[in-house]
Amino acid sequence: MHKTDICILGAGPAGATAALHLANKGIPSLLLDKATFPRDKICGDALSGKVVNELRRIAPELPAQLGEQQEALPSWGIHFISPGGHKLSVPFMYNYNPEQDTPAGFISKRIHFDDFLIEQVRQRPEIGFRENVDVAKYERMPEGGFILSDKQGQALVQAKLLLVANGAQSGFTRHVAGLEQEAEHYCAGLRAYYKGVAGMDADNFIELHFFKDFLPGYFWIFPLPNGEANVGVGMLSSAVSRKKVNLKKEMQRMIASHSELKKRFANAEVVDDIRGFGLPLGSRKRIISGDNYMLLGDAGALIDPFTGEGISNAMISGRWAAEQAAKCLQQQDFSAQFMQGYDKAVYNRLWKELRLSRHLQKLLRYPWLFDVVASRASKSQALAETISCMLNDVDLRERFRQPSFYAKLLFN
Ligand SMILES: Cc1cc2nc3c(=O)[nH]c(=O)nc-3n(C[C@H](O)[C@H](O)[C@H](O)COP(=O)(O)OP(=O)(O)OC[C@H]3O[C@@H](n4cnc5c(N)ncnc54)[C@H](O)[C@@H]3O)c2cc1C
Repeated sequence: MHKTDICILGAGPAGATAALHLANKGIPSLLLDKATFPRDKICGDALSGKVVNELRRIAPELPAQLGEQQEALPSWGIHFISPGGHKLSVPFMYNYNPEQDTPAGFISKRIHFDDFLIEQVRQRPEIGFRENVDVAKYERMPEGGFILSDKQGQALVQAKLLLVANGAQSGFTRHVAGLEQEAEHYCAGLRAYYKGVAGMDADNFIELHFFKDFLPGYFWIFPLPNGEANVGVGMLSSAVSRKKVNLKKEMQRMIASHSELKKRFANAEVVDDIRGFGLPLGSRKRIISGDNYMLLGDAGALIDPFTGEGISNAMISGRWAAEQAAKCLQQQDFSAQFMQGYDKAVYNRLWKELRLSRHLQKLLRYPWLFDVVASRASKSQALAETISCMLNDVDLRERFRQPSFYAKLLFN
Protein backbone atom coordinates (compact mmCIF):
# COMPACT_ATOMS: atom_id res chain seq x y z
CA MET A 1 0.00 0.00 0.00
CA HIS A 2 1.25 3.43 -0.98
CA LYS A 3 1.41 6.03 1.86
CA THR A 4 1.17 9.70 0.91
CA ASP A 5 0.23 13.07 2.39
CA ILE A 6 -1.87 14.14 -0.61
CA CYS A 7 -3.80 11.87 -2.93
CA ILE A 8 -5.78 13.34 -5.86
CA LEU A 9 -8.55 11.12 -7.17
CA GLY A 10 -9.31 11.75 -10.87
CA ALA A 11 -6.99 13.32 -13.45
CA GLY A 12 -9.50 15.40 -15.45
CA PRO A 13 -9.09 19.21 -15.55
CA ALA A 14 -9.79 19.58 -11.78
CA GLY A 15 -7.36 16.91 -10.57
CA ALA A 16 -4.60 17.63 -13.11
CA THR A 17 -4.73 21.38 -12.30
CA ALA A 18 -4.49 20.71 -8.55
CA ALA A 19 -1.50 18.39 -9.07
CA LEU A 20 0.27 20.93 -11.30
CA HIS A 21 -0.20 23.82 -8.84
CA LEU A 22 1.06 21.63 -5.99
CA ALA A 23 4.08 20.72 -8.13
CA ASN A 24 4.70 24.44 -8.76
CA LYS A 25 4.91 24.82 -4.97
CA GLY A 26 7.33 21.88 -4.75
CA ILE A 27 4.71 19.71 -3.01
CA PRO A 28 4.52 16.05 -4.06
CA SER A 29 1.18 14.36 -4.70
CA LEU A 30 -0.19 11.05 -5.91
CA LEU A 31 -2.66 11.42 -8.83
CA LEU A 32 -4.88 8.42 -9.65
CA ASP A 33 -7.27 7.80 -12.55
CA LYS A 34 -9.26 4.74 -13.53
CA ALA A 35 -8.70 5.49 -17.23
CA THR A 36 -5.59 5.32 -19.36
CA PHE A 37 -4.87 8.61 -21.16
CA PRO A 38 -5.66 9.79 -23.76
CA ARG A 39 -9.28 9.13 -22.80
CA ASP A 40 -12.59 10.54 -24.02
CA LYS A 41 -14.99 12.54 -21.82
CA ILE A 42 -18.51 13.35 -23.01
CA CYS A 43 -18.54 17.15 -23.24
CA GLY A 44 -19.28 20.07 -25.59
CA ASP A 45 -15.48 20.54 -25.84
CA ALA A 46 -15.71 24.37 -25.60
CA LEU A 47 -12.82 25.98 -23.71
CA SER A 48 -13.72 29.49 -22.57
CA GLY A 49 -11.42 32.44 -21.86
CA LYS A 50 -11.48 31.36 -18.22
CA VAL A 51 -9.78 28.09 -19.21
CA VAL A 52 -7.10 30.05 -21.07
CA ASN A 53 -6.55 32.19 -17.93
CA GLU A 54 -6.26 29.11 -15.74
CA LEU A 55 -3.72 27.56 -18.13
CA ARG A 56 -1.70 30.78 -17.88
CA ARG A 57 -1.75 30.52 -14.08
CA ILE A 58 -0.26 27.02 -14.28
CA ALA A 59 2.48 28.19 -16.67
CA PRO A 60 2.50 31.40 -18.76
CA GLU A 61 3.45 29.56 -21.96
CA LEU A 62 0.54 27.06 -21.88
CA PRO A 63 -2.10 29.13 -23.79
CA ALA A 64 0.30 29.59 -26.73
CA GLN A 65 1.20 25.89 -26.61
CA LEU A 66 -2.50 24.98 -26.72
CA GLY A 67 -2.92 27.35 -29.68
CA GLU A 68 -0.19 25.49 -31.56
CA GLN A 69 -2.06 22.19 -31.23
CA GLN A 70 -3.79 21.28 -34.50
CA GLU A 71 -6.57 19.69 -32.48
CA ALA A 72 -7.52 23.05 -30.85
CA LEU A 73 -9.68 25.38 -32.94
CA PRO A 74 -9.60 29.08 -31.95
CA SER A 75 -13.08 30.48 -31.30
CA TRP A 76 -14.01 34.18 -31.23
CA GLY A 77 -17.48 34.23 -29.76
CA ILE A 78 -20.96 32.78 -29.13
CA HIS A 79 -24.20 33.02 -31.10
CA PHE A 80 -27.29 32.71 -28.88
CA ILE A 81 -30.37 31.88 -30.98
CA SER A 82 -33.57 32.84 -29.13
CA PRO A 83 -36.83 30.82 -29.25
CA GLY A 84 -38.18 33.24 -31.90
CA GLY A 85 -35.07 32.68 -34.06
CA HIS A 86 -33.26 35.98 -33.29
CA LYS A 87 -29.50 35.70 -33.26
CA LEU A 88 -27.60 37.47 -30.47
CA SER A 89 -23.89 37.39 -31.28
CA VAL A 90 -21.44 37.90 -28.45
CA PRO A 91 -17.78 38.13 -29.46
CA PHE A 92 -15.33 37.22 -26.69
CA MET A 93 -13.48 40.51 -27.43
CA TYR A 94 -14.29 43.60 -29.48
CA ASN A 95 -12.53 44.50 -32.75
CA TYR A 96 -10.64 41.23 -32.67
CA ASN A 97 -8.24 40.32 -35.44
CA PRO A 98 -7.94 36.54 -35.93
CA GLU A 99 -4.62 37.06 -37.75
CA GLN A 100 -2.98 38.84 -34.81
CA ASP A 101 -4.84 38.38 -31.52
CA THR A 102 -4.45 35.50 -29.10
CA PRO A 103 -7.81 33.73 -29.18
CA ALA A 104 -9.92 34.14 -26.06
CA GLY A 105 -11.41 30.66 -26.45
CA PHE A 106 -10.90 27.29 -28.16
CA ILE A 107 -12.81 24.18 -29.03
CA SER A 108 -10.84 20.98 -28.58
CA LYS A 109 -12.08 17.42 -28.16
CA ARG A 110 -11.55 16.40 -24.57
CA ILE A 111 -9.56 13.38 -25.66
CA HIS A 112 -6.94 15.93 -26.81
CA PHE A 113 -7.35 18.74 -24.25
CA ASP A 114 -7.23 16.50 -21.18
CA ASP A 115 -4.21 14.73 -22.64
CA PHE A 116 -2.55 18.13 -23.19
CA LEU A 117 -2.84 18.71 -19.42
CA ILE A 118 -1.68 15.16 -18.67
CA GLU A 119 1.41 15.77 -20.83
CA GLN A 120 2.27 18.61 -18.40
CA VAL A 121 1.64 16.25 -15.47
CA ARG A 122 3.96 13.59 -16.92
CA GLN A 123 6.83 16.10 -17.03
CA ARG A 124 6.66 16.84 -13.29
CA PRO A 125 8.73 14.62 -10.96
CA GLU A 126 6.69 15.91 -7.98
CA ILE A 127 3.56 14.12 -9.32
CA GLY A 128 3.21 10.35 -8.97
CA PHE A 129 0.69 9.66 -11.75
CA ARG A 130 -0.99 6.24 -11.83
CA GLU A 131 -3.49 5.29 -14.56
CA ASN A 132 -5.87 2.37 -14.70
CA VAL A 133 -6.53 2.56 -10.93
CA ASP A 134 -10.24 2.29 -10.13
CA VAL A 135 -10.88 3.37 -6.54
CA ALA A 136 -14.15 1.95 -5.20
CA LYS A 137 -13.96 2.14 -1.39
CA TYR A 138 -12.99 4.83 1.09
CA GLU A 139 -12.31 3.97 4.72
CA ARG A 140 -11.64 6.60 7.35
CA MET A 141 -8.63 5.93 9.57
CA PRO A 142 -9.09 6.51 13.32
CA GLU A 143 -6.15 8.93 13.33
CA GLY A 144 -7.62 10.88 10.36
CA GLY A 145 -7.18 10.45 6.62
CA PHE A 146 -8.38 7.69 4.31
CA ILE A 147 -7.47 4.26 3.02
CA LEU A 148 -8.56 3.81 -0.61
CA SER A 149 -9.27 0.34 -1.98
CA ASP A 150 -10.33 -1.20 -5.28
CA LYS A 151 -13.50 -3.24 -5.98
CA GLN A 152 -11.89 -6.41 -4.63
CA GLY A 153 -11.17 -4.63 -1.34
CA GLN A 154 -7.44 -4.49 -2.02
CA ALA A 155 -6.02 -1.46 -0.13
CA LEU A 156 -4.20 0.81 -2.57
CA VAL A 157 -3.38 4.09 -0.85
CA GLN A 158 -3.27 5.65 2.59
CA ALA A 159 -3.55 9.45 2.47
CA LYS A 160 -3.78 12.25 5.03
CA LEU A 161 -5.63 14.48 2.58
CA LEU A 162 -7.87 13.50 -0.31
CA LEU A 163 -8.62 15.83 -3.23
CA VAL A 164 -11.72 14.27 -4.77
CA ALA A 165 -11.86 15.12 -8.48
CA ASN A 166 -13.48 12.03 -9.94
CA GLY A 167 -16.29 13.75 -11.78
CA ALA A 168 -20.08 13.83 -11.93
CA GLN A 169 -20.58 10.25 -10.76
CA SER A 170 -18.28 10.46 -7.76
CA GLY A 171 -19.12 7.75 -5.22
CA PHE A 172 -17.19 9.70 -2.59
CA THR A 173 -19.39 12.78 -3.08
CA ARG A 174 -22.51 10.70 -2.55
CA HIS A 175 -21.53 8.20 0.10
CA VAL A 176 -18.89 10.01 2.17
CA ALA A 177 -19.63 13.72 1.67
CA GLY A 178 -23.38 12.95 1.63
CA LEU A 179 -24.28 15.19 -1.34
CA GLU A 180 -27.21 13.77 -3.26
CA GLN A 181 -28.00 14.43 -6.92
CA GLU A 182 -30.81 17.01 -7.03
CA ALA A 183 -32.89 17.04 -10.20
CA GLU A 184 -33.43 20.81 -9.88
CA HIS A 185 -29.64 21.34 -9.88
CA TYR A 186 -28.58 18.66 -12.34
CA CYS A 187 -28.61 18.64 -16.12
CA ALA A 188 -28.74 15.70 -18.52
CA GLY A 189 -26.60 16.11 -21.65
CA LEU A 190 -26.00 14.28 -24.93
CA ARG A 191 -23.14 14.67 -27.39
CA ALA A 192 -22.43 13.42 -30.91
CA TYR A 193 -19.61 14.17 -33.34
CA TYR A 194 -20.75 15.08 -36.87
CA LYS A 195 -18.94 15.69 -40.13
CA GLY A 196 -20.17 18.00 -42.89
CA VAL A 197 -22.56 20.33 -41.00
CA ALA A 198 -23.10 23.34 -43.30
CA GLY A 199 -23.24 27.04 -42.40
CA MET A 200 -20.59 27.10 -39.68
CA ASP A 201 -19.39 30.55 -38.58
CA ALA A 202 -16.27 31.87 -40.34
CA ASP A 203 -14.74 32.85 -36.97
CA ASN A 204 -15.76 29.61 -35.28
CA PHE A 205 -18.41 31.16 -33.03
CA ILE A 206 -20.06 28.43 -30.97
CA GLU A 207 -23.87 28.24 -31.27
CA LEU A 208 -26.44 27.81 -28.49
CA HIS A 209 -30.00 27.39 -29.82
CA PHE A 210 -33.05 27.72 -27.56
CA PHE A 211 -35.86 26.16 -29.60
CA LYS A 212 -39.46 26.91 -28.57
CA ASP A 213 -40.39 23.23 -28.59
CA PHE A 214 -37.38 22.18 -26.53
CA LEU A 215 -37.45 24.64 -23.61
CA PRO A 216 -36.06 24.79 -21.00
CA GLY A 217 -33.41 22.78 -22.88
CA TYR A 218 -30.79 23.92 -25.35
CA PHE A 219 -29.23 22.56 -28.51
CA TRP A 220 -25.62 23.31 -29.42
CA ILE A 221 -23.37 23.17 -32.48
CA PHE A 222 -19.68 23.76 -31.74
CA PRO A 223 -17.20 23.73 -34.64
CA LEU A 224 -14.15 21.49 -34.46
CA PRO A 225 -11.02 21.12 -36.61
CA ASN A 226 -11.19 19.02 -39.81
CA GLY A 227 -14.76 19.98 -40.67
CA GLU A 228 -16.20 18.18 -37.65
CA ALA A 229 -18.70 19.57 -35.15
CA ASN A 230 -19.71 18.71 -31.61
CA VAL A 231 -23.51 18.62 -31.57
CA GLY A 232 -25.56 18.10 -28.43
CA VAL A 233 -28.47 18.89 -26.17
CA GLY A 234 -28.89 19.63 -22.49
CA MET A 235 -31.92 19.94 -20.21
CA LEU A 236 -32.50 20.23 -16.48
CA SER A 237 -33.13 16.71 -15.09
CA SER A 238 -36.26 17.86 -13.27
CA ALA A 239 -37.72 19.03 -16.62
CA VAL A 240 -36.65 15.79 -18.36
CA SER A 241 -38.63 13.72 -15.87
CA ARG A 242 -41.55 16.16 -15.55
CA LYS A 243 -42.03 16.32 -19.33
CA LYS A 244 -40.95 12.69 -19.90
CA VAL A 245 -38.46 13.79 -22.55
CA ASN A 246 -36.44 11.23 -24.50
CA LEU A 247 -33.39 13.41 -25.17
CA LYS A 248 -31.94 11.24 -27.94
CA LYS A 249 -35.21 11.16 -29.88
CA GLU A 250 -35.66 14.91 -29.35
CA MET A 251 -32.16 15.65 -30.65
CA GLN A 252 -32.77 13.54 -33.77
CA ARG A 253 -36.22 15.07 -34.23
CA MET A 254 -34.87 18.63 -34.13
CA ILE A 255 -32.13 17.83 -36.65
CA ALA A 256 -34.64 16.19 -38.99
CA SER A 257 -37.48 18.67 -38.68
CA HIS A 258 -36.33 22.22 -37.87
CA SER A 259 -36.18 23.97 -41.21
CA GLU A 260 -32.81 25.66 -40.59
CA LEU A 261 -31.18 22.56 -39.07
CA LYS A 262 -32.60 20.29 -41.76
CA LYS A 263 -30.74 22.29 -44.40
CA ARG A 264 -27.51 22.46 -42.43
CA PHE A 265 -27.49 18.72 -41.65
CA ALA A 266 -28.62 17.60 -45.13
CA ASN A 267 -25.16 16.28 -46.02
CA ALA A 268 -23.89 15.71 -42.50
CA GLU A 269 -23.08 12.32 -41.06
CA VAL A 270 -22.65 11.29 -37.47
CA VAL A 271 -19.15 9.91 -36.86
CA ASP A 272 -19.72 8.63 -33.33
CA ASP A 273 -22.66 7.32 -31.29
CA ILE A 274 -24.88 9.82 -29.49
CA ARG A 275 -23.71 9.49 -25.89
CA GLY A 276 -24.97 10.97 -22.62
CA PHE A 277 -23.55 12.15 -19.30
CA GLY A 278 -24.68 14.27 -16.34
CA LEU A 279 -23.83 17.87 -15.42
CA PRO A 280 -23.93 18.65 -11.67
CA LEU A 281 -24.81 22.33 -11.60
CA GLY A 282 -23.47 24.93 -9.21
CA SER A 283 -26.82 26.66 -8.87
CA ARG A 284 -26.89 25.94 -5.12
CA LYS A 285 -24.13 26.47 -2.57
CA ARG A 286 -22.95 23.26 -0.95
CA ILE A 287 -20.39 22.27 1.67
CA ILE A 288 -17.54 21.05 -0.52
CA SER A 289 -15.01 19.97 2.08
CA GLY A 290 -14.81 18.05 5.33
CA ASP A 291 -12.32 16.33 7.62
CA ASN A 292 -9.35 15.35 5.41
CA TYR A 293 -11.03 16.00 2.05
CA MET A 294 -12.05 18.59 -0.55
CA LEU A 295 -14.43 18.13 -3.50
CA LEU A 296 -13.21 19.57 -6.81
CA GLY A 297 -14.88 20.27 -10.18
CA ASP A 298 -17.91 18.12 -11.00
CA ALA A 299 -17.44 16.12 -7.79
CA GLY A 300 -18.24 19.41 -6.02
CA ALA A 301 -21.01 20.40 -8.51
CA LEU A 302 -19.56 23.61 -9.92
CA ILE A 303 -20.93 23.71 -13.50
CA ASP A 304 -22.42 27.00 -14.74
CA PRO A 305 -26.22 26.47 -14.81
CA PHE A 306 -26.83 28.67 -17.87
CA THR A 307 -23.98 27.79 -20.25
CA GLY A 308 -23.09 24.27 -19.02
CA GLU A 309 -19.46 25.36 -18.77
CA GLY A 310 -17.59 23.29 -16.19
CA ILE A 311 -13.97 22.90 -17.31
CA SER A 312 -12.82 26.34 -16.15
CA ASN A 313 -14.61 26.07 -12.80
CA ALA A 314 -13.05 22.63 -12.30
CA MET A 315 -9.60 24.16 -12.92
CA ILE A 316 -10.33 27.10 -10.59
CA SER A 317 -11.34 24.70 -7.83
CA GLY A 318 -8.16 22.67 -8.50
CA ARG A 319 -6.06 25.81 -8.02
CA TRP A 320 -7.75 26.72 -4.73
CA ALA A 321 -7.56 23.12 -3.49
CA ALA A 322 -3.78 23.21 -4.03
CA GLU A 323 -3.60 26.48 -2.03
CA GLN A 324 -5.59 24.96 0.81
CA ALA A 325 -3.59 21.69 0.74
CA ALA A 326 -0.35 23.65 1.11
CA LYS A 327 -1.77 25.43 4.18
CA CYS A 328 -2.98 22.12 5.66
CA LEU A 329 0.48 20.60 5.31
CA GLN A 330 2.18 23.65 6.75
CA GLN A 331 -0.08 23.73 9.80
CA GLN A 332 -0.67 19.96 9.96
CA ASP A 333 -4.36 20.76 10.25
CA PHE A 334 -6.73 18.65 8.12
CA SER A 335 -9.89 19.38 10.11
CA ALA A 336 -13.23 20.23 8.52
CA GLN A 337 -13.12 23.61 10.21
CA PHE A 338 -9.74 24.52 8.71
CA MET A 339 -10.79 23.10 5.34
CA GLN A 340 -13.65 25.67 5.16
CA GLY A 341 -11.04 28.07 3.80
CA TYR A 342 -11.35 26.11 0.54
CA ASP A 343 -15.15 26.53 0.32
CA LYS A 344 -14.77 30.24 1.01
CA ALA A 345 -12.09 30.72 -1.66
CA VAL A 346 -14.02 28.77 -4.33
CA TYR A 347 -17.35 30.50 -3.71
CA ASN A 348 -15.71 33.93 -3.35
CA ARG A 349 -14.49 33.46 -6.89
CA LEU A 350 -17.49 31.67 -8.41
CA TRP A 351 -20.68 32.26 -6.49
CA LYS A 352 -21.53 35.64 -8.00
CA GLU A 353 -21.45 34.28 -11.55
CA LEU A 354 -23.12 30.97 -10.63
CA ARG A 355 -25.99 32.86 -8.99
CA LEU A 356 -26.40 35.11 -12.02
CA SER A 357 -26.40 32.15 -14.35
CA ARG A 358 -29.10 30.56 -12.24
CA HIS A 359 -31.07 33.76 -12.79
CA LEU A 360 -30.50 33.61 -16.57
CA GLN A 361 -31.48 29.93 -16.56
CA LYS A 362 -34.79 30.92 -14.94
CA LEU A 363 -35.32 33.50 -17.72
CA LEU A 364 -35.96 30.55 -20.03
CA ARG A 365 -39.34 30.31 -18.30
CA TYR A 366 -40.12 33.57 -20.15
CA PRO A 367 -39.09 32.82 -23.74
CA TRP A 368 -40.86 35.98 -25.00
CA LEU A 369 -38.57 38.13 -22.84
CA PHE A 370 -35.51 36.37 -24.22
CA ASP A 371 -36.90 37.07 -27.71
CA VAL A 372 -37.37 40.78 -26.97
CA VAL A 373 -33.77 41.08 -25.74
CA ALA A 374 -32.32 39.13 -28.69
CA SER A 375 -34.47 40.85 -31.32
CA ARG A 376 -33.63 44.38 -30.05
CA ALA A 377 -29.94 43.48 -29.83
CA SER A 378 -29.92 42.09 -33.37
CA LYS A 379 -31.10 45.53 -34.59
CA SER A 380 -28.91 47.72 -32.38
CA GLN A 381 -25.14 47.48 -32.44
CA ALA A 382 -24.95 49.55 -29.22
CA LEU A 383 -27.29 47.23 -27.34
CA ALA A 384 -25.47 44.15 -28.70
CA GLU A 385 -22.19 45.61 -27.38
CA THR A 386 -23.74 46.39 -23.99
CA ILE A 387 -25.06 42.84 -23.66
CA SER A 388 -21.75 41.46 -24.82
CA CYS A 389 -19.93 43.46 -22.12
CA MET A 390 -22.49 42.32 -19.57
CA LEU A 391 -21.99 38.67 -20.46
CA ASN A 392 -18.20 38.99 -20.43
CA ASP A 393 -18.00 40.98 -17.18
CA VAL A 394 -19.41 39.51 -13.98
CA ASP A 395 -20.01 42.87 -12.29
CA LEU A 396 -21.93 44.21 -15.28
CA ARG A 397 -23.79 40.90 -15.53
CA GLU A 398 -25.54 41.89 -12.25
CA ARG A 399 -27.71 44.15 -14.42
CA PHE A 400 -29.45 41.04 -15.83
CA ARG A 401 -30.92 40.61 -12.34
CA GLN A 402 -32.47 44.06 -12.35
CA PRO A 403 -36.06 44.37 -13.63
CA SER A 404 -35.17 47.90 -14.81
CA PHE A 405 -32.94 46.42 -17.53
CA TYR A 406 -35.94 44.60 -19.08
CA ALA A 407 -38.33 47.49 -18.42
CA LYS A 408 -36.07 49.82 -20.43
CA LEU A 409 -35.96 47.36 -23.31
CA LEU A 410 -39.70 46.82 -23.32
CA PHE A 411 -40.80 50.43 -23.07
CA ASN A 412 -38.08 52.32 -24.95
C1 LIG B 1 -22.84 16.72 -22.45
C2 LIG B 1 -21.90 17.66 -21.74
C3 LIG B 1 -21.44 18.82 -22.36
C4 LIG B 1 -20.55 19.68 -21.71
N1 LIG B 1 -20.03 20.74 -22.39
C5 LIG B 1 -19.09 21.53 -21.81
C6 LIG B 1 -18.41 22.53 -22.56
O1 LIG B 1 -18.60 22.69 -23.77
N2 LIG B 1 -17.50 23.32 -21.92
C7 LIG B 1 -17.22 23.15 -20.58
O2 LIG B 1 -16.41 23.91 -20.04
N3 LIG B 1 -17.82 22.16 -19.87
C8 LIG B 1 -18.71 21.33 -20.45
N4 LIG B 1 -19.26 20.28 -19.73
C9 LIG B 1 -18.86 20.09 -18.32
C10 LIG B 1 -17.46 19.45 -18.24
O3 LIG B 1 -17.42 18.28 -19.03
C11 LIG B 1 -17.11 19.10 -16.78
O4 LIG B 1 -17.50 20.17 -15.94
C12 LIG B 1 -15.63 18.83 -16.58
O5 LIG B 1 -15.23 17.67 -17.28
C13 LIG B 1 -15.30 18.65 -15.09
O6 LIG B 1 -13.96 18.27 -14.92
P1 LIG B 1 -13.55 17.32 -13.68
O7 LIG B 1 -12.06 17.26 -13.71
O8 LIG B 1 -14.23 17.77 -12.46
O9 LIG B 1 -14.18 15.88 -14.01
P2 LIG B 1 -13.94 14.89 -15.25
O10 LIG B 1 -13.48 15.64 -16.43
O11 LIG B 1 -15.17 14.08 -15.35
O12 LIG B 1 -12.74 13.97 -14.78
C14 LIG B 1 -12.92 13.00 -13.77
C15 LIG B 1 -11.82 11.95 -13.87
O13 LIG B 1 -11.95 11.03 -12.77
C16 LIG B 1 -11.74 9.71 -13.23
N5 LIG B 1 -12.47 8.80 -12.33
C17 LIG B 1 -13.81 8.67 -12.20
N6 LIG B 1 -14.11 7.76 -11.26
C18 LIG B 1 -12.93 7.29 -10.79
C19 LIG B 1 -12.59 6.30 -9.83
N7 LIG B 1 -13.52 5.63 -9.15
N8 LIG B 1 -11.27 6.04 -9.59
C20 LIG B 1 -10.30 6.72 -10.27
N9 LIG B 1 -10.59 7.66 -11.21
C21 LIG B 1 -11.88 7.95 -11.46
C22 LIG B 1 -12.28 9.70 -14.66
O14 LIG B 1 -11.68 8.68 -15.44
C23 LIG B 1 -11.89 11.10 -15.15
O15 LIG B 1 -10.64 11.12 -15.81
C24 LIG B 1 -20.15 19.40 -20.36
C25 LIG B 1 -20.61 18.23 -19.73
C26 LIG B 1 -21.46 17.37 -20.41
C27 LIG B 1 -21.91 16.10 -19.72
